[in-house]
Amino acid sequence: MEDLKQKQSLFKDVQKMVQSCIQCGTCSSSCLAVPAMEHTPRHIWRLVQLGYKEEVLNSKTFIYCASCYYCTLRCPRGLPLTQAMAKLKEIAVKTNLKKHKSSMNFYKYFVKNVCCHGRVNEIELMTNYLISTKNPLVFLKYAPLGMKLMGKGKLPFGNALKEKGILDVLFRKVKEVEGKI
Ligand code: SF4
Ligand code: SF4
Repeated sequence: MEDLKQKQSLFKDVQKMVQSCIQCGTCSSSCLAVPAMEHTPRHIWRLVQLGYKEEVLNSKTFIYCASCYYCTLRCPRGLPLTQAMAKLKEIAVKTNLKKHKSSMNFYKYFVKNVCCHGRVNEIELMTNYLISTKNPLVFLKYAPLGMKLMGKGKLPFGNALKEKGILDVLFRKVKEVEGKI
């Protein structure tokens, strides 16, 4: 019940963010992630405007948003599109949407990893993420790719340690902005 209320209230926030979208399609034509998306950004904003909450939240469009801000920069209405995508991700996390659990786990471990090392430590990130899937078969699926990348020197050991602490100020500021400290 609480989840439902929260979902509705956050979804309304997204609706407010895109209410003046004129469906020009500039965001879709600017977005490099479109080929991976089920709905283009323009389409997703129309669905949001019309209140198709479940359809929007069940799609992977916002999961594939790379937060590059290009659509936000180019939208002729000046809409906060990247924040709207982030808000959809927030709904998925806060209401524990089953469909996006694996993607959300990936985000969680990614942020933890960067926060801890100051940059991505790919080996640690993928190990933690794959363990979280509780499925030994995914290890087997990714093992050949991991070996190949290691063979080409693309997965260096220990490099991340040099950057430890470098992003602490940034993470502290984010927590401050979010009212967590
Ligand atoms: S660029 Fe802005 S106005 Fe145009 S479709 Fe996208 S959100 Fe709507
Ligand atoms: S911020 Fe997200 S939706 Fe916008 S252009 Fe970048 S990847 Fe696409």
